[in-house]
Amino acid sequence: MLAFIRFVKFFMVMQGKKGLVMGMANKFSIAFGISEALKNRGAELIFTAQNEYFQNKISDMARDFGGHDVVLCDVSKDGEIEQAFDKILNTVGALDFIVHSIAFSDKNELIGKYYNTTRANFLNAMNISCYSFTEVCKFAPKLMPNGGSLVTMTYYGSEKVVPNYNVMALAKSALETSVRYLADDLGEFGIRVNAISAGPIKTLAASGVGEFSKVLAYDRNRSPLKRNVTLEDIGNACAFLLSDLSSGVTGEIVHVDCGCNTIGVKF
Ligand code: NAP
Repeated sequence: MLAFIRFVKFFMVMQGKKGLVMGMANKFSIAFGISEALKNRGAELIFTAQNEYFQNKISDMARDFGGHDVVLCDVSKDGEIEQAFDKILNTVGALDFIVHSIAFSDKNELIGKYYNTTRANFLNAMNISCYSFTEVCKFAPKLMPNGGSLVTMTYYGSEKVVPNYNVMALAKSALETSVRYLADDLGEFGIRVNAISAGPIKTLAASGVGEFSKVLAYDRNRSPLKRNVTLEDIGNACAFLLSDLSSGVTGEIVHVDCGCNTIGVKF
């Protein structure tokens, strides 16, 4: 019996914790994999969606994960993050964690030369993919008055050149730097801030990156684990970062990529 209780305590690391997931478009989304891992470990979830189309599209899934209505939040618009957080606070009360799994670039600029990036898309990609996380963190102490944990999603293209990743690589570099600054800003509130650098995985957003299937094959070949990462791999690592098991971890970029980032040359 004692062993069973220990097992449940170890496995249900998110029991009694409530959190927000931003960026679930469908069941292929990284946010979906994270939500499954969190729910399986006992968490209660609430979701935001960019517009009414996706609000309706994910409403059944969202109810399965937490029983709450999806809150509208286009992170590119002034005031929407704060309004969404106020609404969430009023309906479900204080939270323990937030997952930010949001990025955007015009897909016409995710192919070919980086220098062809337009000013408009550069600013929009930075705004949605990087600045939005800064704003989320700004209002996080209000939503998480008892402390908590935030995780955002990044990619190896921020560290080394990956064909066609282009402006998104710049946005991810800025996002990773902001994770370190935000971790320092929010430490005094007992709030931790980390990022997962996920290996490539086929999602709606990823399908906009030129020659993405070649990147998947390349990583599969060089990976120490001889495979691509799965939604479950990412979800499990995220559950760790959002749980008390990682209570001393903040400001980190954790690679969940089957080890690909550790490989220099592979024959
Ligand atoms: P996804 O399923 O397409 O998710 C991207 C999400 O971003 C969608 O839910 C999308 O909402 C949301 N979004 C875009 N603009 C928004 C806005 N203005 N306001 C609110 N939400 C907005 O793709 P994903 O691959 O899971 O991407 C999730 C995160 O993981 C991104 O940060 C991505 O860069 C990162 N990542 C992905 C990979 C990969 O290989 N897939 C690897 C490493 C990191 P709508 O659907 O409503 O537009």
